[in-house]
Amino acid sequence: MADNKQRICIIGGGPAGLACGMYLEKKGYENYVIYEKLNKVGGKAYSPKIMVNGEERAYETGAIMGAITYHAVSEMEEFGGYYHKGPDFKPGEPNMRREYRNSFTGEVIEPFNVKAVPFKEKLKLIKLKAQFNKLQKLMATKYAGYDCYGHIGVASGKYDGISKIVKNESGDNAGEAFPNYIKGENENLKDLALTFKEFCKKNKIEEVQRIWIGPYTSFGYGYFDEIPAAYVLKYLDVTTAREFVGMRLWTWQDGTQEIYNSVNRKLKHPAVLNTEVVKIERPEGKVLVTIRQNGVETTEEFDKLIVTTPLDWFAGYADATKDEKELFAKIVHEKYVDFIARFDEDKGPVISGYLFENMEPERLGHAMVYYHRWEDQGKNCPCTVYALRNHTGDPDVSYEKTLEMMKEDIQKTLKFPIKEVLYAQESYYCPHVGPEDYAAGWYDKLEAIQGTKNTYYAGEILSFGDMEDTCAASKDIVGRFF
Ligand SMILES: Cc1cc2nc3c(=O)[nH]c(=O)nc-3n(C[C@H](O)[C@H](O)[C@H](O)COP(=O)(O)OP(=O)(O)OC[C@H]3O[C@@H](n4cnc5c(N)ncnc54)[C@H](O)[C@@H]3O)c2cc1C
Repeated sequence: MADNKQRICIIGGGPAGLACGMYLEKKGYENYVIYEKLNKVGGKAYSPKIMVNGEERAYETGAIMGAITYHAVSEMEEFGGYYHKGPDFKPGEPNMRREYRNSFTGEVIEPFNVKAVPFKEKLKLIKLKAQFNKLQKLMATKYAGYDCYGHIGVASGKYDGISKIVKNESGDNAGEAFPNYIKGENENLKDLALTFKEFCKKNKIEEVQRIWIGPYTSFGYGYFDEIPAAYVLKYLDVTTAREFVGMRLWTWQDGTQEIYNSVNRKLKHPAVLNTEVVKIERPEGKVLVTIRQNGVETTEEFDKLIVTTPLDWFAGYADATKDEKELFAKIVHEKYVDFIARFDEDKGPVISGYLFENMEPERLGHAMVYYHRWEDQGKNCPCTVYALRNHTGDPDVSYEKTLEMMKEDIQKTLKFPIKEVLYAQESYYCPHVGPEDYAAGWYDKLEAIQGTKNTYYAGEILSFGDMEDTCAASKDIVGRFF
């Protein structure tokens, strides 16, 4: 048993940082501190309250949904005593209904309904179904082991980690499947370094991109011609993808942020807010952390450090080693823009909408999806609208231009007149490495330096930029190194 009296500093009070605190406590560590630079916990799980018809409710500007594969998030729910709604939603609960619209005309379409599409499209849909089944089989056989959280060994055809798959999508045995450590070798896993587009081409399953693009690109995770298949398939593993297609999703009544508020309230040491870590020095055997509170800087000594915040930023304020600098310089992230809009009285959408044509790189900066959270608010429900403004090889669309284009899509194409934008933001989103760096073993190089200078790396880059993968990565890091 490691020395659980060690003083541990955790940078970041988002899902990853709070999960580290929780899992450390579960292992008997009590001498930890979480520093959070903002005045709130939850990071990109942020659920502002908005008043509509005299009633205040939670809306989402960051994380929204989960699924039966959210095992680590379930453990956070259990710890905090705050649970999701769904997949069967009751009246008065936020829900996940959706429709599809043509991005150019705004008309409602049914691209996955064989009866509603023209003959040529029918054949494509039949092909899509067959390829979806083929992909399921491929992932269970040719790519066995793909479903581990994290990427250790994948570039050299190995797998080693917690398996997230559940055998039965209704989730009956979800509990017993987690944590299920699996380890092995499978040369085919090297294919996961290919872009998802190339991966599909290689396996002759190109049509499946039409399903994966909805919960992948429109959720801000990038385009299929730039993102290694590993990220796509580890986040949208076959079970999670099936749950998305079947609309068996989770959401949270008071917002996803409340998962982390409730965990924070139960921690022995809740996150220290309004406290930015601005400098890290790591002389032999210890970690000196300089924090800034109310403009005043102080330095504290710790035994160990867990970084859950962007590693490329970390290299900027820490005494980064040559290895850290080289590795972290390879990290790229998505620029995901969203805003919450209120509409003219009785003129807004009544259901969430997906705009598939706008999910292609040629339509960079256009609205890809909008989220209608409260069914009972009908046309007066404020909605969140989302777009990406970067794509490898193309110039970025500016933040201002992106907001302008998104508003135009909603107002002119879809004809929902916006009364006011209540909140707008751009997120540092989905940090990852490109196909070449992935194939060159970026993750194994990161694994090799875990623990050097008493420093451990967690957060989104470790596995994927969603709540489940980040919390599971924290579980894995605490489980293996503490
Ligand atoms: C628009 C949007 C939609 C999303 N939808 C979903 C979804 O439906 N489902 C899902 O599972 N996930 C979703 N996500 C992703 C999910 O929110 C993130 O993957 C998750 O929040 C990552 O957790 P994290 O702790 O690694 O990082 P973050 O959430 O980014 O938290 C990092 C924290 O560290 C703090 N910090 C940064 N630097 C410092 C410093 N120097 N000192 C102190 N504190 C610091 C930040 O203020 C922040 O609170 C969405 C995100 C966005 C933005």
